[in-house]
Amino acid sequence: MRAAVVQQFGEPLVIEDRPIPEPGPGQITVRMQASGLCHTDIHAAHGDWPVKPTPPFVPGHEGVGIVHELGDGVTSLQRGETVAVPWLGYACGECKHCLTGWETLCTRQYNTGYSFDGCYAEYFLADAAFAAKVPAGINVFDAAPLTCAGVTTYKAVKVGNVRPADLVAISGLGGLGHLALQYAKIFGGTVAAIDITDEKLQLAKELGADIVIDARAEDPAAVLQAHGGADVAIGLAVDDKSFATAYASLRRGGRLVLVALPAAGTLRIPVFDTVLNGTSVIGSIVGTRADLADVFALHALGRTKVIYETRDLGTVNESIADVLHGRAKARIVLQP
Ligand code: NAD
Ligand code: ZN
Ligand code: ZN
Repeated sequence: MRAAVVQQFGEPLVIEDRPIPEPGPGQITVRMQASGLCHTDIHAAHGDWPVKPTPPFVPGHEGVGIVHELGDGVTSLQRGETVAVPWLGYACGECKHCLTGWETLCTRQYNTGYSFDGCYAEYFLADAAFAAKVPAGINVFDAAPLTCAGVTTYKAVKVGNVRPADLVAISGLGGLGHLALQYAKIFGGTVAAIDITDEKLQLAKELGADIVIDARAEDPAAVLQAHGGADVAIGLAVDDKSFATAYASLRRGGRLVLVALPAAGTLRIPVFDTVLNGTSVIGSIVGTRADLADVFALHALGRTKVIYETRDLGTVNESIADVLHGRAKARIVLQP
């Protein structure tokens, strides 16, 4: 089978011919049909973060496909079912986080395409308990981006506690942002969309953004303060400066939700203003299996639209370059 492999950080991925992996106890092998290219995969391939994967490895954690083989003891899934394999590849199920609905914070978790080989391959392994069934009626190319971009931004909108009268600033309208905009609307918010490419600003208008801000031409904080300030700002742009801007765009009592993970990202905030304004700064990491089930249910109801283009797995290096240079649709979905 073909797999796209990171041999060395910062080098192009290499398409290798590898044996189809055999599932161990509790695992399944999935025959890939669609595999979204999340910006996290680019950080992984570049070794951007303090905790690094170990090359050689296969990235990818928006993997959707058909259950091909079942390992010993798997009873929750059957051969031929369509499943989605997210970033949260395994959590212990026993710790305080797991038991209180915060499996995404489990310290014994494994991450797909990071701690073990991911979905940029014709076949990949998954822990059966963390592979989500994709409901009938959702096409695999929609399901793939929902598996990370969808669940992550649905969760970010929830932890930001978006309420119907809130002004919600979405910074970065890429794979995550175009779905964040839609969830913020579903929760009742008025949405301001911020980006730095014409295509993404146009997309934001098409998806119903109430205010569209071109961060190349205007200061988003000044524009948002002229509207009274954002109640919630969600940081999805892979650019350190955008977090400071998002912080400065908040109204008193506002919530800044940090999601994007630029290499060595830092945010300096003034204690005095944060205290007197009652500002919250919240980190948000993907979402749980229950969140992903909600995301699929909303999509099946026709309440979200996934914007993607499909490309062959073999184009992975050009595809990464196109994401980095703002030349891709909201999400690129790789096909085997
Ligand atoms: P993407 O490349 O598809 O989208 C980023 C968008 O930000 C692009 O549209 C780009 O034009 C825009 N942008 C860049 N600079 C900007 C600026 N200064 N102001 C406004 N917009 C700007 O990336 P993505 O796949 O949506 O991922 C975004 C980030 O989220 C990545 O860092 C990724 O690793 C991270 N991520 C985090 C989680 C989590 O659980 N916290 C989950 C998935 C992805
Ligand atoms: Zn746990
Ligand atoms: Zn992701």
